[in-house]
Amino acid sequence: MFKSFFFDMDGVLVDSMPNHALAWAETLVRYGIRFEPRDCYINEGRTSRDVIRMLAKEQGLYFTDDEIEDIYQEKTTAYRQHGGGKPMLNVDKVLNLIHQQGAQVWVVTGGGQPDLYDQLEVSFPGIFRPDRMVTALQVPIGKPRPEPYLKAWEGCGCAKADCCVIENAPLGIQAGKAAGLFTIGVNTGVLRREDLLSAGADIVFDNMQQLYDWLNHEI
Ligand code: CA
Repeated sequence: MFKSFFFDMDGVLVDSMPNHALAWAETLVRYGIRFEPRDCYINEGRTSRDVIRMLAKEQGLYFTDDEIEDIYQEKTTAYRQHGGGKPMLNVDKVLNLIHQQGAQVWVVTGGGQPDLYDQLEVSFPGIFRPDRMVTALQVPIGKPRPEPYLKAWEGCGCAKADCCVIENAPLGIQAGKAAGLFTIGVNTGVLRREDLLSAGADIVFDNMQQLYDWLNHEI
């Protein structure tokens, strides 16, 4: 049984990716940039500005930094208008099971919302702690670099073999593995299992219920 679990946020704790994809598609079409939902999932973890630059470059388009900032702001507004995210189906069962067993629950995200703890407390009361969070505010170097997960590992005080990363995206899985940690992929989006396995996931589940069933046996 693992003693510490490090949860990614978007696409793991929060079912936010469908509205992110919708917001990207609506915004980018206005700038003549082609976009498929898969682009959103495969690039998850990169900064939004980098995603815009990359897609534009691939398609032979050029935007100034100011234009990229405008696109990013429009996308963010569109995401909020669509209602943002909601708790991922059945992740509350997973969190409660781990919490009841006395293991540490951390959130490790590239996001930098100052009110993240309050949001988590509303969705998952009593599970998270302010001192068990790694966000872009503490670690500006993002996934797929290992630093965010290494920061959580240092903070938890457990051996690496006792820690487990829960991720949904290839870049996040790469970050968990680069940190030397057991990394579970939960394929909550539109990618193929192979996308998560080839990123290095030790095991892949199709949804949170499957992860819950597996943990129930492991625990
Ligand atoms: Ca994610």
